Amino acid sequence: MQLYSIFTLAMDDEKPSSDTITFLGTGGARFMIITQLLASGGFWLNLSGTEILIDPGPGCIVQAIKRKLKAEKLSAIILSHRHLDHSADTNIMVEAMTQGGLKRHGRLFAPADALETEPVIFSYLKNYLDGVEVLGEGKSYPVGNISFTTPVRHIHRTETYGMVFRTAKHTFSYIADTRYFEGLCQHYGGELLIINLVFLEPRPSADNPLTPTDHLAVPDAEHIIRELKPKVAILTHFGMSVWRAKPWQIAEKLTEKTGVRVIAARDGMKFDLAQLDN
Ligand SMILES: [Zn+2]
Repeated sequence: MQLYSIFTLAMDDEKPSSDTITFLGTGGARFMIITQLLASGGFWLNLSGTEILIDPGPGCIVQAIKRKLKAEKLSAIILSHRHLDHSADTNIMVEAMTQGGLKRHGRLFAPADALETEPVIFSYLKNYLDGVEVLGEGKSYPVGNISFTTPVRHIHRTETYGMVFRTAKHTFSYIADTRYFEGLCQHYGGELLIINLVFLEPRPSADNPLTPTDHLAVPDAEHIIRELKPKVAILTHFGMSVWRAKPWQIAEKLTEKTGVRVIAARDGMKFDLAQLDN
């Protein structure tokens, strides 16, 4: 038995490194999250062997284990912002990444306001980490074999950043929660675009009916995809209105309209970035 486990470990190490994204949830905003109609665990990157967890919302630990992902292999956990649907499982995922605190390891990246008043991470868990890094506009961060930038602060109710990831083979962007704004597109690019799509139709802000809400709607996604023309766009983080309209049908229509391959993510979907190489 012992020999067998050593053998499988060696086999794992010899696997050619590929770039994959596993979706640990595709639900977004409060009603999808409290009903768990869709899971809400964020997504897990394996980029040339460097594993990174993005936006561990409620249930991330359950989804990660279900998908046989090993938290102790993570090099970093990155939060786009502090909202519950992006951060609720931060503490337990830090605990898992550090093997219950026995192995000091990994870094947490988050905007300053997720770490200051009512921080998303307990202070005793911070000591298990190699470091906590504060995200800022226009900054770049190396992690293992890759690097990512947080090019622009989004317009959202709390400090929020999207990300552009660069690996040896691929560049892709994650447009996290935001209101659409002039100039958003120019900060993102790459062969793949992941877009958090919460609303079907644009709607006014609950606080001020004269301004749009702080989330993207389908017409915004269409505009962004047309402007950036990635090889593939993946929609995720669906609110109730998008879910009721069947995200896969929305994706199909956007593919027809834009000529870009648009995919609606599914809970547990694993996307191999090799698909972008053809
Ligand atoms: Zn949010």
